[in-house]
Amino acid sequence: MSAPATTIFTAMAALAEETGAVDLGQGSPDEDGTVVLLEAAVDALRAGHNQYAPLAGVPVLRQAIADHQRRRYGLSFDPDREVQVTFGATEGLAAALLALLRPGDEVLVLDPSYDSYAPIARRVGATMRPIPLEPPAWRVTPEAVAAAITPRTRMLLLNSPHNPTGRVLDRGELELLAGVCREHDLLALTDEVYERLVYEGTHLPLATFDGMAERTLTVSSLAKTHGLTGWKVGWVTGPADLMAQVRGVKQFLSFAGGTPLQHAAAVGLNLPDRVVDDYAAGLRAKRDRLADGLAAAGFSVLPNQGTYFLNVDVAPLGEPDAEALALRLPVEAGVVAIPVSALSADPVRVGSILRFACCKRDAVLDDAVDRLSSWAAAR
Ligand code: PMP
Repeated sequence: MSAPATTIFTAMAALAEETGAVDLGQGSPDEDGTVVLLEAAVDALRAGHNQYAPLAGVPVLRQAIADHQRRRYGLSFDPDREVQVTFGATEGLAAALLALLRPGDEVLVLDPSYDSYAPIARRVGATMRPIPLEPPAWRVTPEAVAAAITPRTRMLLLNSPHNPTGRVLDRGELELLAGVCREHDLLALTDEVYERLVYEGTHLPLATFDGMAERTLTVSSLAKTHGLTGWKVGWVTGPADLMAQVRGVKQFLSFAGGTPLQHAAAVGLNLPDRVVDDYAAGLRAKRDRLADGLAAAGFSVLPNQGTYFLNVDVAPLGEPDAEALALRLPVEAGVVAIPVSALSADPVRVGSILRFACCKRDAVLDDAVDRLSSWAAAR
């Protein structure tokens, strides 16, 4: 990693603040998503759901999570023993890593990857083993997976739909990864926070593949699906023996939190699919708006199939170092973006890729495109 990711994110947020640049850095929507949930939260507050929730999460939410997994994917979980509510997906991922990894263990992870995994794994003395994804297609190849496995490999940590690339892994890639987990007797921890924000292809949970349900912990959250990232309501589902270990760790991280928001999250999970599909369609239109604008401005836009993010390759603009460019852009163009190298163990392979968040109001996206067009034209 060229610089600790926190440094880059903190630096970029500070630069946005300092320069008044349009901030397409963090994947944080600038509008509330599913607004009916705001009323559900107010109702829950007024109904007196304001004390500690049970450690596992409020029963109505655990039931809604189990129902969602069955309805969408045919996966069945006992809401009492196989569902755990967490403080966002972040806490669920941390609890699972802390519970299941031991010193010396190795964890397979797609590279680039979201920044919360490695620091937690390192805290228990485990090591991340990157499976390199090559731009622009960012595909998982058998060779890359085989090269990452060692006798110490204990877990596959899989994120699809994938941040930062916007890839949705296809059935062939998932079959390959499931086969590796079975053959090497690996645990799987899947980060599926973008499961409902898929614009091309289909999200297939790894737990649905042969022999995977009994070895997979699936993590998701309300944040992206409903455009309410500040609520921090997440969950983990999986087999009872693994879940008991996760719950044991979660108990002393935060015990339980956000009781009224847990009630509102249950309402969200029980909404008809159409509501979330409409939200995703709106995000897809934003992705297209930004992609078209950036392409017209001369940027080389990479394919995207889902998530909040769109990437460009800045090498064709004569800028081989996206990190250096990202530090100049707020001043030169008035736009903040994140260099993907900050999320990679191999800054060279991804060194010219810049990530933009497209989960912003149309006027904000248009403003960013105007600024970048003027910047590109003046070069
Ligand atoms: N995983 C990924 C891949 C993410 O992009 C994010 C949010 N940026 C999270 C987890 C965190 O989710 P939550 O806000 O529910 O903790």
